[in-house]
Amino acid sequence: MMIRVCEPWFPGKEEEYVADAMKNRMISGSGGGYIEKFENAFSQYTGMKHGVACSTGLGALHLACVALGLGEEDEVIVPTFTMIASMNAIIYTGAKPVFVDSDPETYCIDVSKIEEKITSKTKAIMPVHIYGHPCDMDEITRIAKKHSLYVIEDAAEAHGAEYKGRKAGSMSDISCFSFYANKILTTGEGGMCLTNNLELAEKMKKLRNHGFDTPRFTHSMVGFNYRLPHLQAAMGLAQVENATKLVEARRNVGLLYQKHLNDFKEYLQLPVEKEYVKSVYWMYSVVLKDNVKMSKEECMNKLSEKGIETRGFFIPGHKQPVFMNKKIKNSPDCRGNYPVSEKISDRGFYLPSSSNLDEKTIEEISRTLKSIVTSA
Ligand SMILES: *Cc1c(COP(=O)(O)O)cnc(C)c1O
Repeated sequence: MMIRVCEPWFPGKEEEYVADAMKNRMISGSGGGYIEKFENAFSQYTGMKHGVACSTGLGALHLACVALGLGEEDEVIVPTFTMIASMNAIIYTGAKPVFVDSDPETYCIDVSKIEEKITSKTKAIMPVHIYGHPCDMDEITRIAKKHSLYVIEDAAEAHGAEYKGRKAGSMSDISCFSFYANKILTTGEGGMCLTNNLELAEKMKKLRNHGFDTPRFTHSMVGFNYRLPHLQAAMGLAQVENATKLVEARRNVGLLYQKHLNDFKEYLQLPVEKEYVKSVYWMYSVVLKDNVKMSKEECMNKLSEKGIETRGFFIPGHKQPVFMNKKIKNSPDCRGNYPVSEKISDRGFYLPSSSNLDEKTIEEISRTLKSIVTSA
């Protein structure tokens, strides 16, 4: 039997609400009902005024970029070390992603390297709270204010995480979440934009629904179909009702790994938790240090043979064939040095991180990892 890298957990009324939605024939994404309840509950939990539910995390990022008016000739600062969706949302608008390297400890965007990438074309910064550790948002906010830039938070990996007491996803013009199956709160597929700006929220609600305006069947903008069905929103509402439980459980998995791997820092770089944040350890990551004479792939294969599933770190944007081969007009510039991103990508992977993993299993995974790493 394989210990999966991540499995969803439904400790509350998920089935009851989904069954209720079906019984009431609330199955599409036309608004109201469970969709509105889910939006209200999650925006309140995170600490933003308005929620706009949509079909995926990528959809949420795209809605945010379009709502803020990003387009051709614009540039957006984004970490090169992130999931491809962060970059693609920018690409869709015609704007160009501009890469910044990672912080060697948090793996989030290195804030000391942002300003050198700002030009007269820069319109926004998109920080990504990597693996559940929030970015240095005060510094990002300061830079954004100084240069009059928007901030779009990609909080897809950081439900419930905190920065100086404020929740990830509450510190920007628009924040974007994913509720994909491996995220801390899940609806199977789903996403949400949060904002304190009512006008932006209303614009995103129109954009997600074909740009429908009043009177019906008039359209004043090119919209999308990014609606989230009631069925998914019903599941999401039940997840938000247990948000604290789900987030604390996920964080606790991270803390248990910290405890059982703490004596192994000679070989493994473990995740940090900066004193000003509360990390949620979306995925518990390890980076093999140079004294481990084994490739990441070899180590992951050996873990797999022992029934432990893992996933490698993201491959940085500047190493993606789709961008390097300049297949699109607004391809990001892939030259330049991103040594931290390359290093962690080459040596990093994450361990099983399901919220309901018990300590015995975590201890066993830790012991297996140690014996593999020292066997090289
Ligand atoms: C998961 C994820 C997304 C995309 O979410 P989907 O719901 O799969 O579209 C975007 N950004 C980051 C950082 C993610 O981890």
